[in-house]
Amino acid sequence: MPISNTDDTDLASIREAVAALCADFPGTYWREKDRDSAYPTEFVEALKDAGYLAALIPENYGGSGLGLRHAAVILEEVHRSGGSGSACHAQMYVMGTILRHGSDEQKQKWLPPIAAGDLRLQAFGVTEPTSGTDTLSLRTTAVRDGDDYVINGQKVWTSRAEHSDLMLLLARTTPREKVEKRTEGLSVFIVDMREATGNGLDIRPIRAMVNHSTTEVYFNDLRVPAENRIGEEGQGLRYILSGMNAERVLIAAECIGDARWFIEKASSYAKERVVFDRPIGRNQGVQFPIARAFAHMEAAALMVEKAARLFDEGASIGPQANMAKLLAADASWEAADMCLQTHGGFGFAEEYDVERKFRETRLYQVAPISTNLILAYIAEHVLGLPRSY
Ligand SMILES: Cc1cc2nc3c(=O)[nH]c(=O)nc-3n(C[C@H](O)[C@H](O)[C@H](O)COP(=O)(O)OP(=O)(O)OC[C@H]3O[C@@H](n4cnc5c(N)ncnc54)[C@H](O)[C@@H]3O)c2cc1C
Repeated sequence: MPISNTDDTDLASIREAVAALCADFPGTYWREKDRDSAYPTEFVEALKDAGYLAALIPENYGGSGLGLRHAAVILEEVHRSGGSGSACHAQMYVMGTILRHGSDEQKQKWLPPIAAGDLRLQAFGVTEPTSGTDTLSLRTTAVRDGDDYVINGQKVWTSRAEHSDLMLLLARTTPREKVEKRTEGLSVFIVDMREATGNGLDIRPIRAMVNHSTTEVYFNDLRVPAENRIGEEGQGLRYILSGMNAERVLIAAECIGDARWFIEKASSYAKERVVFDRPIGRNQGVQFPIARAFAHMEAAALMVEKAARLFDEGASIGPQANMAKLLAADASWEAADMCLQTHGGFGFAEEYDVERKFRETRLYQVAPISTNLILAYIAEHVLGLPRSY
């Protein structure tokens, strides 16, 4: 069911509604999933049924047609509640590649069932074990053979592959030495994993520090119909990059939600915990780090809001999306460290949820893009410094 997109669909009412939904999924729920490395199916279903995962899909394809600011508020609120959007955030934005670069036929075929929640497009296969951040060095190949492409190679950290029907895949269609421009030669495909699994596609889960349903994916002569290629052959990197700004803003919003959770948790603990006959929060050594984390989080939130608003206005937001991700990830990590310290030994106990959220928010210094690579982007593209890699 799409959420309504009327002029009075204000951000505050979305915030309130998401908070009410998340109240049904308390710390005990997330703790249990984390302990068992289990997928939070019930939570994902609830978000889907409320229409939040289709927020960014235009109304003519059955979605809500809301802006990135609305989507950001949804994910911020999920994280502020103590939960995590990582099990399903990709369902909100991966479809953007089809929306912006797909043919009319492809949009008609895939967007309505994605909006209805009947089709899951949750998997995004870019990272490979040998190339890492250097996407242009990826080795997975797609070779044209009649009406199909034949895919061979391997991806790593392909999150939610076991909980998705489709995967957006980036693979090399022209050898690197044969392309005119270094950024060409990669193409984007929709892989229907329902047909592919066991027929050239093999998915192996990775046990990780965070409960992220992440996997390794192997392609062995997997045939994908040529009609599943999005846009022009060889232009895939451009299509993937155009979706990354939206992803960065949404992940930044999750960081802001985490930071708010840590700050609220630390503040209330500092008021209650009495040591040396006084609440620990009376000590400046305890309250100043909380205040500092709050100020940094509020500043980062302004950048996230600015990036989302500019995106909704149709602007190109490379610098703002990257700065929002950098500042928000730093703010959430600072708040996490502060919150753990405020809790002393109890911060390490599972039942406080602090150690879980601490692990979860650490990820954002590395994924979906590492802090160094954002700094390299700002240095080169905003400040005009020489390219460092
Ligand atoms: C839990 C999890 C989920 C993920 N989900 C997905 C997913 O669904 N789909 C997907 O495609 N990928 C996914 N990723 C991959 C993620 O995007 C990458 O881990 C991330 O981009 C960093 O790449 P890498 O791990 O290969 O690090 P590397 O590229 O090997 O880099 C290692 C370190 O070196 C630094 N470094 C590298 N080159 C430079 C340089 N030139 N200058 C300065 N520093 C440099 C990096 O900043 C980093 O700190 C996920 C990762 C994790 C951990």
